[in-house]
Amino acid sequence: MNPAADATSTPGELGEPGDPADTGPPRPDVLVVGAGMTGVNQAYRLLEEGFTVEVVEAGDGVGGTWFWNRYPGSRFDSESYTYGFLFSEELFDEWVWSEHFAGQPEIERYVNHVVDKFDLRRHITFGVRVTAAQWDGESCTWAVTLDDGTVRRARHLIAATGVLSVPYLPDIPGIDGFAGVAHHTGRWPAEPVDFTGKRVAIVGTSSSGVQVLPVVAPVAESVTVYQRTANWCTPLNNSPITDEEQAQLRADFAQLKQILDTSPHGFHHTAVEDTALDASAEEREAFFERVWSSPGFRKLTSNYADVLLDPEANELWCAFIAAKIRSIVDDPVAAEALIPTDHRYAQKRPPFVAGYFEAFNLPNVELVDLRATPMVRVTRTGIETTDGERPFDVIVWATGFDFGTGALMRLGVRAGDHVLTDDWADGPATWAGVQCAGFPNFFFPGGPHAAAGNNPRYNSDQVEFVTDLLCAARAAGETRIELDPAAEQRWTAMVDRGAQSSAFGSDNYYFGSNIPGKPHRLLLNASGRPKLLKTFAESRAHDFPEFHRS
Ligand code: NAP
Repeated sequence: MNPAADATSTPGELGEPGDPADTGPPRPDVLVVGAGMTGVNQAYRLLEEGFTVEVVEAGDGVGGTWFWNRYPGSRFDSESYTYGFLFSEELFDEWVWSEHFAGQPEIERYVNHVVDKFDLRRHITFGVRVTAAQWDGESCTWAVTLDDGTVRRARHLIAATGVLSVPYLPDIPGIDGFAGVAHHTGRWPAEPVDFTGKRVAIVGTSSSGVQVLPVVAPVAESVTVYQRTANWCTPLNNSPITDEEQAQLRADFAQLKQILDTSPHGFHHTAVEDTALDASAEEREAFFERVWSSPGFRKLTSNYADVLLDPEANELWCAFIAAKIRSIVDDPVAAEALIPTDHRYAQKRPPFVAGYFEAFNLPNVELVDLRATPMVRVTRTGIETTDGERPFDVIVWATGFDFGTGALMRLGVRAGDHVLTDDWADGPATWAGVQCAGFPNFFFPGGPHAAAGNNPRYNSDQVEFVTDLLCAARAAGETRIELDPAAEQRWTAMVDRGAQSSAFGSDNYYFGSNIPGKPHRLLLNASGRPKLLKTFAESRAHDFPEFHRS
């Protein structure tokens, strides 16, 4: 079905603009901010339900994360077919992913295909950024100011702005004065960056930085990797999807969708009941070997049941990885530096790699341990650490993001006395990561506090919930949907309680610790998707009691 075609024949709830302050196209029922995975999903679902929708997007194209993070080596680490949209079997059938973990160009092509297939592009305004959003209680609408000077007015405002969309550049003296080429992985330019014969620095050794190194090292004159904290990297184990596998995926769509719609982590991986501590040393070694060779996140989801829960079991898995690193990296000093010593496996989000450790055996790759020789400044020509300056042509800043709340806090959202940046000054307060009290008709699926796991899956849960809530309000002739503060308080307290006992370490971006001055609060939800799904089911069953509707 083509929801966009349907939507044009269904008049919008608000009709045409009548307010002279409107400077945009006809008023939509819903203004969606962001044309990434969540924004496209949300727009599709609302159009399908007959709402009028405008999407505003800062980029020149769709894809969100997969539009901005076009750095060399950027690719999925969730299986492609578990990350994509599941709202159309026809789409699933016709799209052929070339690899189990697709690269960024293919992912961007996919999102473009989806937008064109369902005729969503004409609902999207590209190249505009929201600078302010003001709730008008009289008309029950949001007035949203864009950086092109225009104002949009819509009944509902849905910020699908993502959790990893505001890049973080550290405050290092001289960082703006570098005369060479410098890019953050999260704002990688569309024009290709030529690394051939160049002296390259990569700063940051987490999920992004470790993807860049193996792609750039073979062509660059030299690559210097600046590492502050080593990470527990394991192989992605990517491979092409064969015709037989593709046929099987198609045949299994209903079953796969059912699993992905309900699994605790949003993957289709089967959990293991055996425990590391109950296995013999030989059994464990053989099992860990199989896990090491398994694709992607199975290192977490299909590992021994106690690896993420019991520090002793976790230590056994870490020792196995450490031995692998020592066996791959020729230089024993580099090998030791690449083995984490300050956190257990999965206390930080573990990266998945292809040829990362092997790259350190190349004669043109050097590892700089910033714990031993901290960075002092960026000069016009390079980077200076306490052991001197190294000259570079290109610096890749793989230094992460203002996770969870970064984009929402930059939207300038206000409703009456409520200013989002004030209300969240000590960290976000939400109900199920979809709304916060004091901001009627403002939703943020894909934002903080929802769950943890394969993002598009639990973000889809939120999209479906918001869609159902808007449908229920429309059916009842209601124009205002406002979260009860008690519901927000309950959910936020649950998130904070879970943070105390969660398997996540607390010194990482999940807690905002990577951003100087950011409140130290869990930005995910350690109770995970089961809690989210149960909460949504109960809310639906009782006609959304967490919300005041009028
Ligand atoms: P990140 O995990 O936050 O890592 C940032 C890196 O920069 C860390 O190594 C950090 O070191 C380093 N860093 C930060 N400030 C620094 C400074 N002042 N000096 C030196 N180093 C500094 O960011 P990311 O690698 O971009 O990944 C973010 C998330 O994006 C991932 O967790 C994942 O969810 C997603 N992602 C996914 C994929 C994929 O495969 N699908 C690929 C890339 C990213 P410290 O650890 O010491 O702070």
